[in-house]
Amino acid sequence: YSYYDGNTVLYLDGAFQKASEAKIDLYGQSLHYGYAVFEGIRAYMLADGSMKIFKAKEHFDRLKRSCELVHIPYPFNNEELIEATYKVIEANGLTGAYIRPLVFCPPDMSLKAAASSSIMICAWNWGAYLGDKLLRVMTSSYQRPNPESFQIESKSSGLYVNSILASQEAKGQGYDEALLLDINGFVAEGPGANLFFEKKGGLYTPPRGHILPGITRATVIELCHELGIPVVEKFFTVDELKQADAVFYCGTAAEIVGWESLDGQPFGKSWTGSLGRIIQQAYKAKVLEQSIKPESKVA
Ligand code: PMP
Repeated sequence: YSYYDGNTVLYLDGAFQKASEAKIDLYGQSLHYGYAVFEGIRAYMLADGSMKIFKAKEHFDRLKRSCELVHIPYPFNNEELIEATYKVIEANGLTGAYIRPLVFCPPDMSLKAAASSSIMICAWNWGAYLGDKLLRVMTSSYQRPNPESFQIESKSSGLYVNSILASQEAKGQGYDEALLLDINGFVAEGPGANLFFEKKGGLYTPPRGHILPGITRATVIELCHELGIPVVEKFFTVDELKQADAVFYCGTAAEIVGWESLDGQPFGKSWTGSLGRIIQQAYKAKVLEQSIKPESKVA
């Protein structure tokens, strides 16, 4: 996949420049220790042809909090960053965008907290990250990191080695994606997405504590309230998940994507008849700022 070409423009510390000409220092803490923080955001084209960043404030607020949790300075103004992001989208003529802000640290080989930081924002056209098909998911042999070993609510670069290992393990065994458990053996999340399962007319999702508190997860909970779908946060095991009527992953990149099976075992309901399918349609409407159709409401 080509993320940029000779004409691509990105934002770096207050200025716009060509991606092909932007440089970073090879002696930085971010490259050597994974000491950096990032976001994944999407922008959609609305019916009037304008581009709209979905939940821009929530994403940039999380970027700031992620930095604070791992003591990376955040001297940036989020309103200015959102404005800069719109300029990046426009400068590159994007008609649907995945946006990647990255806060990284200057040259330093010590293990001290960074004294300063830089921010870059780039964007590209990106389709469905996990594809449109239902997912065949494998329970990973890798756990999510212990919250007492890391600031797991910080979307830190280094944390994603865990995601890469889990995802590669699953794909290496012929599955589409991994499912990671927490250190207590409860279901946590995917390498880059949160999950919900449907049982007897309600939706369930793991509570905070061992997961990245996803912005899409929060949006799904909002949609459940709007649509009258009962939703509960609780810890549950893989065995309970395998008894679910249906399951889906949700995330900015993945959006809403249903599961076909877990460890080869299919679920009770077809995706088309599941609550997840209703949420998927409502999510699509929400990002496009269209009203959620009343006929899709649950009685
Ligand atoms: N969990 C992990 C580990 C992730 O990387 C992501 C993607 N940022 C999510 C969950 C979903 O978060 P969001 O809905 O904010 O994209």
